[in-house]
Amino acid sequence: MQPDDRIGPDGPSPATRADPLTADERRLVAVAAVVPVPVSALLLVPVALVTGAGPAQVVAAAVVYGGLLGLAAAFVTVDRLQSRQCPRCHERNGRRAVVCPVCGYDLEQRPRFACDERHAAYLDDAGLCACGRRLKPVPVARGIGAQVVFAVKLGAWLLAFLVGVAVLLRLLERGL
Ligand SMILES: [Zn+2]
Ligand SMILES: [Zn+2]
Repeated sequence: MQPDDRIGPDGPSPATRADPLTADERRLVAVAAVVPVPVSALLLVPVALVTGAGPAQVVAAAVVYGGLLGLAAAFVTVDRLQSRQCPRCHERNGRRAVVCPVCGYDLEQRPRFACDERHAAYLDDAGLCACGRRLKPVPVARGIGAQVVFAVKLGAWLLAFLVGVAVLLRLLERGL
């Protein structure tokens, strides 16, 4: 918590960045990042037995695909963990908290306010922005975060690209 980016107990609360993850939460992210590698290796073993691929190929494919999956899993885990923090007082809440038990912030609707110029996002309707313009409610994006959707799409394109390159290499190998 950085006291300098709060205006004061009586002023509006600007939306702040989430607190850094605790050691336990970081461990959870690391597990989410690493587990897909051995899991995809296990899943690839029967495929390798059918296609006659060697252990080196299985390990390489597990590192590439499991690594990509791990990156996506770690990203989603960080996003989920941060979404459990109250954006106003940074209290960590259970998965289903509707209202923050510490400061009373509405965790379900997560209202935000900003002036027409969008100088800063505020978490409560304090009337006026620091620039003197009137604050208005900011429409809240519902459902899965836009960044998560973007990351998943990027991952799908990367995967398609890698599979395409692998097929191309195999075709070139046969041609030689
Ligand atoms: Zn709170
Ligand atoms: Zn303003």
